[in-house]
Amino acid sequence: MSYNSKMYGLGSKRSIIREIFEYSKLRASEIGADNVFDFSLGNPSVPAPAEVNETVRRLLDTEDSVLLHGYTSAQGDLRVRQAVADSINRRFDLALTPQHVYMTCGAAASLSICLRALISEAGEEVVVFAPFFTEYRVFVENAGGVLVQCAPEEDTFQIDLADFAAKLTPNTKAVIVNSPNNPSGVVYSKETVTALCKILEEKQAEYGHEIYLIADEPYRELVYSEVEVPYLMKHYSNTLVCYSFSKSLSLPGERIGYIAVNPDMEDGSNVYLAVCGAGRALGYVCAPSLFQQVIAACLDVKVNLDAYRVNRDLLYNGLTACGFRCVKPDGAFYLFVKAPGGDAYALYEAAKNHEILVVPCDDFGVTGYVRIAYCVDRARVERALPAFRRLAEEIF
Ligand code: PLP
Repeated sequence: MSYNSKMYGLGSKRSIIREIFEYSKLRASEIGADNVFDFSLGNPSVPAPAEVNETVRRLLDTEDSVLLHGYTSAQGDLRVRQAVADSINRRFDLALTPQHVYMTCGAAASLSICLRALISEAGEEVVVFAPFFTEYRVFVENAGGVLVQCAPEEDTFQIDLADFAAKLTPNTKAVIVNSPNNPSGVVYSKETVTALCKILEEKQAEYGHEIYLIADEPYRELVYSEVEVPYLMKHYSNTLVCYSFSKSLSLPGERIGYIAVNPDMEDGSNVYLAVCGAGRALGYVCAPSLFQQVIAACLDVKVNLDAYRVNRDLLYNGLTACGFRCVKPDGAFYLFVKAPGGDAYALYEAAKNHEILVVPCDDFGVTGYVRIAYCVDRARVERALPAFRRLAEEIF
């Protein structure tokens, strides 16, 4: 083979979500888009706040076009990084400087960069908590690491801390925490986070080397109750935050986010340089220039969460009333529903017969669940509820 067979494998094997997306388009052309209840994609349905579009227009009208569309520093524009650092410091009482912030193309690039920056020898392990975003496996393996899965606590989908402690080895390099979680929608509690960080401190001391915590936070702002989303830097010095504006400002196509390195990290300035090096090696330097400026002006702006909250409540109440089981999610925009009988693919197929498209989640590290992405129009949720009831009558 003249090309890389691993990359060929990744490119040629379509993800189940893509398969469903293609099927959804086909079915819409056959029976009309209004009659297909596609809950497969995590694409925000709430528009970006007006301030974002106004800022784009203002920048285009008032800024020097050559500068606005030009390269910035490799790690991002200095004033933008200062604005991001100031915003984090204000909200979480920390002391970041621009030398702790690296602007990136969203959380996917942030994760790839962090893993490449941290994994120094092939075979080092990265622990993830099931259920987890399936791309973690791709990013970890591409950086030369080995993905190690940790089980959730049944019923709550918090982390099973005993299993976590058992999964750490002298070979553990990093741990990825994603809260609010894709696909469960669960927010890890302060108790869970505190206990997790205590275990990490103990294991670092026992093994005599750092274990890094990577906080994958694209859904941080998407929370529907009073629940606190602990900021992991406040709990553990060796933390890197991977943040994205894809969901928090509904800008997934603009590819903008950042990595923040904890100023309390012992070797933090060198880790930051390794982040810069990984960004360079992976070709992720100089995140989109216009949108660096946009987010710097919109750091305190929030999307309107009402639509997601209403959809969550309609679906959670509707599905549990007709017999489905799922944890009530506090954040993100997903419901993680248990397949009766434990066969996620059987539920996926049965739902498809009612024109409901959900994602079977065995690849997310927990078998027997499907994901419902409720980032859709409310009308689609309302039209889908009778179909869910018919599905329930058929399978329960
Ligand atoms: N991490 C999680 C948990 C996600 O769900 C996603 C996207 O859906 C990403 C990372 C990547 O997001 P981005 O669009 O910022 O690259």
